[in-house]
Amino acid sequence: MTCDFCDIVSGRAPAHIVWQDDDVMVFADHQPIRPGHVQIIPKRHYSYFDDLPEPLIGLIVRLGQRLARAQKVIFGVPRVGFVFTGNDVPHCHAHLIPLHDTGDVTSLRYFDRVSVLKRRDLSVPSADLQQMAKRLGRALEEHHEDRI
Ligand SMILES: [Zn+2]
Repeated sequence: MTCDFCDIVSGRAPAHIVWQDDDVMVFADHQPIRPGHVQIIPKRHYSYFDDLPEPLIGLIVRLGQRLARAQKVIFGVPRVGFVFTGNDVPHCHAHLIPLHDTGDVTSLRYFDRVSVLKRRDLSVPSADLQQMAKRLGRALEEHHEDRI
């Protein structure tokens, strides 16, 4: 079985990694709905979020809380969306999206591209994704009191 996210975990596929430990990885969504849109995945392959065991599900949710606090400061938003999906890549993943608008949920590929593209140019250069990943990763490291 091949899995795009298992390939990222193993290093066979590239990603702009924000943070990782032995169990969990955070990387930039390559088609972000908004700047700062990242995905949190368990490193071990699970197809569905409802299959995630404790304490792994708790680790992901607490990491999402830490990331959201950093995203609110860095991207100037009052709220961050957190949603588990897995339709396109069947490896459980949580999208964490700085919310500017009520339509800012999940990933661009789930939306009518024409209507979304009227809002703004959604293409994001890889260098910008890398810069965002480093900035958010540094923010996590700077807040040691919030360690998961
Ligand atoms: Zn996988």
